[in-house]
Amino acid sequence: MCGIVGFVGAEDAAPILLDSLERLEYRGYDSAGIAVVDRESGLQVEKCKGYVSELRGRLTQRAPMTGCAGIGHTRWATHGEPNDINSHPHVSQNGRVAIVHNGIIENYIHIKEFLLSRGVTFASDTDTEVVAQLLEYFFNDCDDIMDAVYQVLDRLEGAYALGILCADTPDRIIAARKDAPLLIGYGEGCSFIASDVTAVIAHTRTVSYMEDGEVAVLTRGRVEVFDEYRRPVEKTSHYVDWDVSAAEKGGYAHFMLKEIHEQPQAVRSTISPYLRDGKIRFDGLSVSTDYINGLRDIHIIACGSSYHVGMIGKYNLERLVRVPVSVSLASEFQYSDPLVGRDSLIIAISQSGETLDTITAVKTVRSRGAHVLSIVNVVGSSLARISDDVLYTRAGPEIAVATTKAYSTQLVMLNMLGLYFAEQRGSVAPDEYAAIVTALEALPAQMQQVLDDTDEYQYLASQYFNRERVFYIGRNLDYALGLEGSLKLKEISYIHSESYAAGELKHGTISLIEDGTLVIALATYAPLFEKALANVREVQARGADVLALTTADRAGALLENVHNLMTVPDTHLILQPNLGVIPLQLLAYYIALQRGCDIDKPRNLAKSVTVE
Ligand code: GLU
Repeated sequence: MCGIVGFVGAEDAAPILLDSLERLEYRGYDSAGIAVVDRESGLQVEKCKGYVSELRGRLTQRAPMTGCAGIGHTRWATHGEPNDINSHPHVSQNGRVAIVHNGIIENYIHIKEFLLSRGVTFASDTDTEVVAQLLEYFFNDCDDIMDAVYQVLDRLEGAYALGILCADTPDRIIAARKDAPLLIGYGEGCSFIASDVTAVIAHTRTVSYMEDGEVAVLTRGRVEVFDEYRRPVEKTSHYVDWDVSAAEKGGYAHFMLKEIHEQPQAVRSTISPYLRDGKIRFDGLSVSTDYINGLRDIHIIACGSSYHVGMIGKYNLERLVRVPVSVSLASEFQYSDPLVGRDSLIIAISQSGETLDTITAVKTVRSRGAHVLSIVNVVGSSLARISDDVLYTRAGPEIAVATTKAYSTQLVMLNMLGLYFAEQRGSVAPDEYAAIVTALEALPAQMQQVLDDTDEYQYLASQYFNRERVFYIGRNLDYALGLEGSLKLKEISYIHSESYAAGELKHGTISLIEDGTLVIALATYAPLFEKALANVREVQARGADVLALTTADRAGALLENVHNLMTVPDTHLILQPNLGVIPLQLLAYYIALQRGCDIDKPRNLAKSVTVE
């Protein structure tokens, strides 16, 4: 998920790899490493937890790495905590090959068991190491590195961009890709591989993008690319005229917009390890079926957007699992003398896993015997380490302060967990279970559908960007969704906005509605659509300017009543907020853009809140 670089040319590879890795630092990472090869010294590897600057420090303490071919990596751990050993490159047990990998090898346990049974020993806890070991295993047998590479790729499931070095062929690097970005850079008498153009832009602007299933062999003066059946492929090269800052954002104006667009892939990566053959499985969890059946209550603890995920979780988990669910702001929970015990499950949610309020609350409940399951994006983070069970979202690093893809992945994770518990407890009907699974499978493509046309949100933003206050209203899941929509708007555009449970309006807030007040009415929750419509009429009667959000099915009924409407595809109702949040994110983004705000770094805010 982070960065890969590779170089082969006429000069020493190590300094070039280090420079290129530094250019990938903006992507966020936890460890870095390089491997270089030449005929005399063979494979030489240096890697460590921490920044590229630490890697540079290590390199000054050892004999210079010599060799004109090399690979480098910045890691964002998904399997195995960030430490020196788990850092890439990974070298096979007899030192014949070194590998860098971005992505996740989903069937790594299966491959590892096979290799262990053949006497292979493993050094790390990563999924990646199986690729290095399996490659050497086949290579020992056939003595043709390309044959061995194809045999390995044939057996890998999951996502990968791979850079491969082989001690026997020190004049080349090999690259392969499936569902993870990788490009080839064509320099003067040298060639590169990289996750994105920022890594190579100082050396060349002529690149070609590898496609899924392709394998490339790069030597000093030549690049050959083959398809999955090993037939040669003629690649088209592109001239990149982006400046470095545009290149970092993959051509998007801001990280936030890039991350909004990464959501289908992030959600797909989060779902796929747990959904197989129509079933949700959380085999690695330590909670037994007996424990799940004996659950008395569930407490969700989180802050900010993760708290809003918890709000949706409360509705969905109670519906599916049929036990009381409470959601608490971690900063409040820790001082509330909570009523939790051995038969309480605590679900703690945090993108960074370093949110101090959440960590403190978790320590409190652990001391009372409750079981803590955390949903975290950063492997090996503090929250992960103090929890009994951890589920990792696979959002990849999130750079923009305002969360988008971490929110979406937390949401699907919580829904999958609810569905799993419900199945164990027998509290969900088989046909509803099947319907939700089908909807989960279709979700990433539906999210993409919403993202394929963003013109509408730019137009709506141009109409509303100069408002000074906004109300979001909705019921049930739409109320919880409104909390997130409102937070997105206020954190990046500095417009004051409030989110209300629509039924609460008449108990006070409606006095704030006057001529021209913008009300964003959320009406995606099908069972209460008529009620939502009634609330729209209620605010319109007081002069509100209503922008509504609903599903494709109900668009007609709403259009008769409102001036502006945003629609999302229909899905199972518990997943509807996963689609509904995208227009709200885009609206907030384009409004902030028109107001000239610093979108990726809003004032006074930090990405990870490590203070109380
Ligand atoms: N899954 C691999 C690991 O945890 C690669 C992570 C990455 O893409 O950086 O080591």
